[in-house]
Formats: sequence, C-alpha cells, structure tokens
Amino acid sequence: MPKELIDFEIYLVYVDSEKCDGCEECIKYCSVDVFDFFVNKAVPARPRNCLGCRTCEAVCKSKAVIITEI
Ligand code: SF4
Ligand code: SF4
Repeated sequence: MPKELIDFEIYLVYVDSEKCDGCEECIKYCSVDVFDFFVNKAVPARPRNCLGCRTCEAVCKSKAVIITEI
C-alpha cells in the first residue's frame, strides 16, 4: 500500500532585536502564542506554532518581524 504524502507549510519567524521597540503588538495579535517578551524585546519562542498569517508583520510599526515560508 503506497504511503500518503502530506503537504504542509513551515514558517521561519525572525525578529530583528535592533529594530524591535518592545511595543508588544505582535504578542497581542498572534493567535497561536509564537512570541515571548524578554528584556523588552519580542522573541519567537514557539515558531512551530506559526500559521503564516503575517498579522505580526502587519502590526509591527518598526518592521522588525519577518515571516518566511520554507
Ligand atoms: S510588534 Fe515589532 S516592535 Fe513591537 S514587540 Fe513585536 S517585533 Fe517588537
Ligand atoms: S505570522 Fe501569524 S501565526 Fe505566525 S507569528 Fe505572525 S501572527 Fe503568529
């Protein structure tokens, strides 16, 4: 019996800590709890949760978040 292939997306979540001003908007809007807040910066602590919605990119006024599909 042939094995079934399952197609799914994986996303890289990157925060440029030089640009991050600690506004916490990405943390507030991410529905799957990807980010933690550490020493006044957002940290993508659970990137495997990412759904690729790019809401965090949209709400980050500092352009510190980059989502990449891999
Ligand atoms: S929205 Fe942008 S600036 Fe604000 S905490 Fe997140 S990464 Fe930092
Ligand atoms: S792209 Fe969506 S799911 Fe992924 S970290 Fe940003 S807000 Fe969360």
